[in-house]
Amino acid sequence: MTERLPLSLTTCTSCGKPIPPGSKSTKFPCPSCGEIQIKRCEKCRKFGRNYKCPKCSFTGP
Ligand SMILES: [Zn+2]
Ligand SMILES: [Zn+2]
Repeated sequence: MTERLPLSLTTCTSCGKPIPPGSKSTKFPCPSCGEIQIKRCEKCRKFGRNYKCPKCSFTGP
């Protein structure tokens, strides 16, 4: 048997958990540097958790 890691799996920028395809996640470019795609899972959207850009350390709601 061969195990394959899902390379295209998206992880939430806020909580770091993988976002399943088709879930109500959101993604948008970092408002500060615009180079990083911020991704937030459904739960982090719902609870309004902060995110942090890994490139410029911008944090936002
Ligand atoms: Zn999340
Ligand atoms: Zn940034």
